[in-house]
Amino acid sequence: MPTRDHDVSSLSDSALQRARRDLAASLALARPDSPVRVPVLAQIDAIDTEHAERERTARATLRICSCGLASDDDAFFDGHLFERPGHEERDLSRYACR
Ligand SMILES: [Zn+2]
Repeated sequence: MPTRDHDVSSLSDSALQRARRDLAASLALARPDSPVRVPVLAQIDAIDTEHAERERTARATLRICSCGLASDDDAFFDGHLFERPGHEERDLSRYACR
């Protein structure tokens, strides 16, 4: 089914931006009631989702617990610390690039 049509994960960042610009341009040219808007909007949505995911991944930092558990998922890691009061997050600031 057409879900794979919107698979934009293989595109580079610049190709993604270019595709989004082209789609926005065709959207601007389409009449408000034109059926062509639907797939174009779906594509733009897919690109925006992919872009947001890349930003999130770029920002993600690995956190490590005193027990050795490591995760870049903040919600999961905070949950782990909450459920196990004896555990504490290791201070990794000395490894951070500045
Ligand atoms: Zn732990």
